[in-house]
Amino acid sequence: MTPVEAGIAAGPAAPAGTERRMTLADALPKRGGFQYNFAFLAEGAKREVRRTLLKAVAIPGHQVPFASPELPIARGWGTGGLQVTMSLIGPHDVLKIIDQGCDGSVNAVNLRKLLVATTGVRTTFDSREATLLQSRHRLPEIPMSTGQIAVLQVPLPEPLRLVEPSEVETRRMHAEGDYARMWVSLYEDVVQNGSVSLSWGYPCRVNEHYIMSPSPIPRWDLPRLHMARHLTLLGAGREKRVYAVPPFTSVKPLEFDDVPFTVENFAGMACVRCGSTDTFLDEIYDENTGRSFRACSDTGYCDLVKAAQAGAAAVMDREAAGE
Ligand SMILES: [Zn+2]
Repeated sequence: MTPVEAGIAAGPAAPAGTERRMTLADALPKRGGFQYNFAFLAEGAKREVRRTLLKAVAIPGHQVPFASPELPIARGWGTGGLQVTMSLIGPHDVLKIIDQGCDGSVNAVNLRKLLVATTGVRTTFDSREATLLQSRHRLPEIPMSTGQIAVLQVPLPEPLRLVEPSEVETRRMHAEGDYARMWVSLYEDVVQNGSVSLSWGYPCRVNEHYIMSPSPIPRWDLPRLHMARHLTLLGAGREKRVYAVPPFTSVKPLEFDDVPFTVENFAGMACVRCGSTDTFLDEIYDENTGRSFRACSDTGYCDLVKAAQAGAAAVMDREAAGE
């Protein structure tokens, strides 16, 4: 039985001679228990992903192929990260899912709904509470700690694809550490633009060996991958690859001696909501006024700062009232 068949096998049996199409409604809990297996995937499919993840953790930054069975979410919408999460999640996990740093965007909301419907786990917006954090485009502003797992959704796992279209050749280049063409590509970027202009997917060297694409997280988040206390797992569903950065592993963005790596510059800007000046700030355009403003990309962190400010203001009010 292939993993795809195994995933479907957990669903209801089709009547003899008929073909039954699986719908998202089938994944929702039914009276008397879950119609589908815990976390949707069949246990055999989960084990295959977990075996692959073990290899990925053992060889940091190395892309390991996996079966990537079909899910009730289209490829390109986070199925790689979703399969990693489904394979690891247990009934006692606390789950946080973000998209562009936001808990409330469409992709995050729908992935969360599917996981809650098929596991019943507790969810949170506070990154410090999460045992499993699935994300597209961001890591949380508060550095993750020991025991936490970050699962990143990856559209393009191969960092060499832009300089080499052949899969056979990129495999050879990784195996031999032959990254000359990547360096030339960065050099040409510097010559033309004055600096490396990549704003996301910035190539990093992991554990002093493989070059890895860190997924579409901004340059801002890369320093938080270096020697991090948490485990980072990266899943690409469409490309059928997983790779990993174990805790306390070096992750160094590629840079030249005379053109060092830099993060995004938000000097002179502040979040319009909480006033933070030390977070990754999104530019938001207000079509009513025609003006743009900046706000924290990490909405969970922004909420924590706002709550702390409200708490401090309440204490000051009570002191002023002589209580
Ligand atoms: Zn804010």
